[in-house]
This record gives sequence, structure tokens and C-alpha cells, in this order.
Amino acid sequence: MNCQVKDELVSQLIALNKKLNLLSPNLVHGDEERAEVQQQRENLYAEIKHHRAKGHDGKPCPAARQI
Ligand SMILES: [Zn+2]
Repeated sequence: MNCQVKDELVSQLIALNKKLNLLSPNLVHGDEERAEVQQQRENLYAEIKHHRAKGHDGKPCPAARQI
């Protein structure tokens, strides 16, 4: 089964991962920006975890296994 909410969360996560990869370690202000993106990614992970567990009126997401 598909779930658009899950798909949206996952595509956001993929976008953040790409962004993180683009932040080269030798950028002068890269550390700060990387920490920020990592924080966003942690928030997103928490959101995905919550959605998988009870994102559908308190019930597990039917697409959870595809994450
Ligand atoms: Zn769902």
C-alpha cells in the first residue's frame, strides 16, 4: 500500500541527505550549516517514526515497511 504522507516525508529526507552531501567539509561555514541540516534530519526521522507507528488516526502506516 502507498501512503502519500510517507512518500512526502521520505522525499524530504532524501533532499536533506543530498544537501548534506553537498556541504563539503572544507567549506568555511560548512560545520554550522551541516549541524543545522543534521538537526532537521533528526526532526524528520522522528516525524517519520511517529507516522509509521501511529500516523493514521492512531494506527500504523500501511506503507511503513517500504520506508
Ligand atoms: Zn502513512
